[in-house]
Amino acid sequence: MADTPDALIVGGGVIGLGIALRLQQQGVAVTLLSRDFAEAASHMAAGMLAPGAEAIPPGPYATLCRRSLARYGDWAEKLETLTGQSIGYWPSGILAPQYGPPADATAGTWLDAATVHHCQAGLSDQIAGAWWYADEGQVDNRALAQTLRLAAQEAGVNIQEGVTVQGFQRQGNQIQQVYSTAGAFRAGHYVLATGAWANDLLPIPVSPVKGQMVAVQVPPGHDHPQPLQRVLYGPGIYIVPRRQGRIVIGATVERVGFTPGNTPVGLTHLFAEASRLYPVLQNFPVQDCWWGFRPGTPDEAPILGPGPADNLTLATGHYRNGILLMPITADLIADQILGRSDPLLDAFSWQRFHPAPAAAHSISPQPMQLLDRSTPATDQPVAMMADSAPLTIAGRTFQSRLMTGSGKYQDLTVMNRAIAASGCEIVTVAVRRVQTHAPGHEGLAEALDWQKLWMLPNTAGCKTAEEAVRVARLGAGNG
Ligand SMILES: Cc1cc2nc3c(=O)[nH]c(=O)nc-3n(C[C@H](O)[C@H](O)[C@H](O)COP(=O)(O)OP(=O)(O)OC[C@H]3O[C@@H](n4cnc5c(N)ncnc54)[C@H](O)[C@@H]3O)c2cc1C
Repeated sequence: MADTPDALIVGGGVIGLGIALRLQQQGVAVTLLSRDFAEAASHMAAGMLAPGAEAIPPGPYATLCRRSLARYGDWAEKLETLTGQSIGYWPSGILAPQYGPPADATAGTWLDAATVHHCQAGLSDQIAGAWWYADEGQVDNRALAQTLRLAAQEAGVNIQEGVTVQGFQRQGNQIQQVYSTAGAFRAGHYVLATGAWANDLLPIPVSPVKGQMVAVQVPPGHDHPQPLQRVLYGPGIYIVPRRQGRIVIGATVERVGFTPGNTPVGLTHLFAEASRLYPVLQNFPVQDCWWGFRPGTPDEAPILGPGPADNLTLATGHYRNGILLMPITADLIADQILGRSDPLLDAFSWQRFHPAPAAAHSISPQPMQLLDRSTPATDQPVAMMADSAPLTIAGRTFQSRLMTGSGKYQDLTVMNRAIAASGCEIVTVAVRRVQTHAPGHEGLAEALDWQKLWMLPNTAGCKTAEEAVRVARLGAGNG
């Protein structure tokens, strides 16, 4: 058993490290457990600080992003003073070129094609103009992660790398300890900051969204050591210059779980769109390519603040903007743990995905049933997710995990009775059979109350692959 720290942070990306640093600086003794710094999305990102270019609509999320952007200069300076290392903060401005007439933008200034070419040489002559976000830019996210780690270590944070947390032990409304591959750890307060892997430890709707990236290097002898002086945020592609002639290109957006690897189709897309937007780079040597997993949430905003136990805080789900959001997350979460909660955090509570009655602050025993053990801790792996936890799919929460079929009942009355008795909220329907009035399916769609049930269309009854794909698309609502 480790010495008892005041706070234990699980996760060694920029979010966990930033919170650890801010807490330790305010007198809290912090231990941080990290499975693998190198797998963190923080290491894989492009480092753009781009709330406007990302077209985040006005509201609490845009406010959070703007407040974080405003803190970056100060954070960069302080980290450099603490460690002597630069995080490559570069408020270069972001150009968002368009090939057609301007679509709506939330916060940019429209520049015509001539002005854009004056602002950045070498762009495609197909562009019609660009939105300009003067106060946005980028940071070298790898340097940021390393510098944060160094600063946290120098401040006294006990960082333990190569440790996987396997579960929390809860008693009443308190987390008692965490189980890990290095044994049990106890603390006064716990912070979950495990990015795309958050759902391994708690049933919150965070899922991985893969992004592939590639980098090229300006060759020696080129006219300028770094010809690209702005971040380019084009349609389907972004191109980010680093100071030493490196140019980072990203990124695909793929919902393929934790499937690793770069793919020909992913890289081809990146090379083609980058060469189209900024042809200057098409013959630059490729330096490396990689992929990472963004922590996605159903509404694309992070999950921040008090968690489902009194001494548990959540800081995850930062999706595409976790680098941008590091300063505000670190500041607000440290303040919340120290009893100075900012009302802005309320908009990012995990409870927004769990409507009443599941939304009770103290969970006893619903909705996030943590493992409750009265026996002494052991080093055995522990699964924490309870079967009774609600199921959230694409932002919709179901109290029952049972999905029932609608075929082969004796008649529609029996079907209705069986579905009601089962308590299920999701019923699967063979759309094609209903459409073609196949035996046993006449009137089926009308017989059920879709105000209370969620229809899960299936492709049974389709006779060709094309038909199945068409019905699946209809089911997904984009046919
Ligand atoms: C391709 C790509 C491009 C991106 N570009 C940008 C960008 O331009 N701008 C921007 O702002 N954001 C960008 N992002 C998003 C940003 O990288 C993330 O939102 C941010 O890094 C999330 O940080 P985090 O600390 O929450 O998670 P991560 O950085 O993923 O860190 C999570 C850490 O938790 C550890 N961990 C997980 N499970 C356990 C466990 N059970 N026990 C112990 N440790 C565990 C992992 O090993 C990892 O170290 C991008 C992401 C990707 C993938």
